Amino acid sequence: MSATGLPPYDDANIFARILRGEIPCRKIHEDDHALAFHDINPQAPVHVLVIPKGQYVSVADFSASATDAEVAGFWRAVAKVAKDLGLEQSGYRVLTNMGSDGGQEVPHFHIHIFGGRPIGRMVP
Ligand code: 5GP
Repeated sequence: MSATGLPPYDDANIFARILRGEIPCRKIHEDDHALAFHDINPQAPVHVLVIPKGQYVSVADFSASATDAEVAGFWRAVAKVAKDLGLEQSGYRVLTNMGSDGGQEVPHFHIHIFGGRPIGRMVP
């Protein structure tokens, strides 16, 4: 168990396999720091996942361990993807799930981008 309450990074996770090209994805964007692709089970007209290329389990792991260049590059990719998808005018939501209480299913840090309709409030 890592300091963040999650197991250490497992490179057999589904997003690691997508990064290695072992599993296909509907790719939107790729650069040195990030890969963005459509969620396989969309919860909104636009539902995109953005993942860092580095091996980070969660937002806590990413924030603690990624380099400044990785953090900046990743967040710039998130904003660029949303802009390129035409979401800036109407707005969108970014979200990450962390650990069991957060409902995280895939143990490779990722950001969800939801848009294309009013998303509504999602405060538990
Ligand atoms: P989490 O609950 O970990 O925050 O979200 C994981 C997300 O990954 C879910 O929205 C789920 O639909 C998506 N997902 C799981 N497996 C795959 C896959 O093989 N391909 C794609 N594109 N999305 C996936």
